Amino acid sequence: MAPLYVARPLLPSMADLNDLLAGVWESKMVTNEGPLHDRLEHALADKLGVPMAKVFSSGTSALQCALLSLELPVGAEVITTPLTFPATAHAITALGLKPVFADIDPETLTLDPSAVERAITPHTAAVIGVHVYGTICDVERLQRICDRHDLRLVFDAAHAFASEKAREKIACMGDMSVFSMHATKLFNTIEGGLVTSNNSAWGERLSLSRNFGIASEESVQSVGINGKMSELHAAVGLLNLELFEEERAIRRGLRARYDLVLQRFPGLKKQLYQPDVYQSEQYYMLRVDPDAFGSTRDDVCHRLKEREIIARRYFWPICTDYDCYRNYPITSLQAVPVAEQVKTTLLCLPFHSGVTNAHIETIASVFEDLHAGVTIAV
Ligand SMILES: *Cc1c(COP(=O)(O)O)cnc(C)c1O
Repeated sequence: MAPLYVARPLLPSMADLNDLLAGVWESKMVTNEGPLHDRLEHALADKLGVPMAKVFSSGTSALQCALLSLELPVGAEVITTPLTFPATAHAITALGLKPVFADIDPETLTLDPSAVERAITPHTAAVIGVHVYGTICDVERLQRICDRHDLRLVFDAAHAFASEKAREKIACMGDMSVFSMHATKLFNTIEGGLVTSNNSAWGERLSLSRNFGIASEESVQSVGINGKMSELHAAVGLLNLELFEEERAIRRGLRARYDLVLQRFPGLKKQLYQPDVYQSEQYYMLRVDPDAFGSTRDDVCHRLKEREIIARRYFWPICTDYDCYRNYPITSLQAVPVAEQVKTTLLCLPFHSGVTNAHIETIASVFEDLHAGVTIAV
């Protein structure tokens, strides 16, 4: 069997892609906000039910441009979670802002609003919540805190594409939501990013910040980067927009099968189920309690790897383990922050339409062996 990775890119048929690209080649309009780019923005706004959608070259450039557009004071503090992909914290730092890490809730694993409140100082300018693994943040409490303290609220929604909570669109929450459309995400443009907002007024500054701050031929208005999406990536996006719901439905079925197979083992805690959330199905995350299960998360990961099942220990290391943020504390209500307690237990299993029944049997047998304490000679 070929190795089974945690993610597999959703790809359109080459014939469909060629048809779209033939037009691009014909026109020679290959980038700089071309027609496919504009079509994709409209299609995304429509699909996500949001008035404004701007596409970018990556989730990282989308995060940076969102922060640039907010025009936060130099050196201002931005409160975020330590349990995320490096891009969230690095986008803050790269713009000369300071990431401040607040602890996570033990159940949702998203930013704990009480910890956020504690982390606020006179220098705080914004909060970035992450809907980690597709689990939605306590948006209402975060919004109330931000309103009370006059802070901007941004969501890193890279794991929550086309998600809803209590029938409200995730893309409409906070000041802005930022999505990644990287190949590993449910909906992808191979490389790409997206910023959405309920407030269309942000659109102009977002467009400026992704295009070097160029307002017209004769005017450069503000600091900006090159965050533009090419026509090739937009073409993949337009086609994948027709395909991702089917992929999501397959993953929903896969989640149910994993749940069923793994429920017999003590010490495995599945991802929190939020009954009012329409899940993106970005990840299947488990927590392995070594005392109750009998083996550690790392044992499980290594043993799966021997069988060519490549699970990932997302998100470990957490941000405060990185060399560049080692001296940054985690503001917490606990003696040992929740993020520190859970970081060695998290495991994401392969989660995409390429996972077969045979794969699931192999995975189940690895858990069975480890739980029974069987060791194989090396
Ligand atoms: C993937 C991801 C990003 C970064 O997106 P890129 O498109 O790879 O730049 C940011 N935040 C989170 C939570 C992610 O998972």
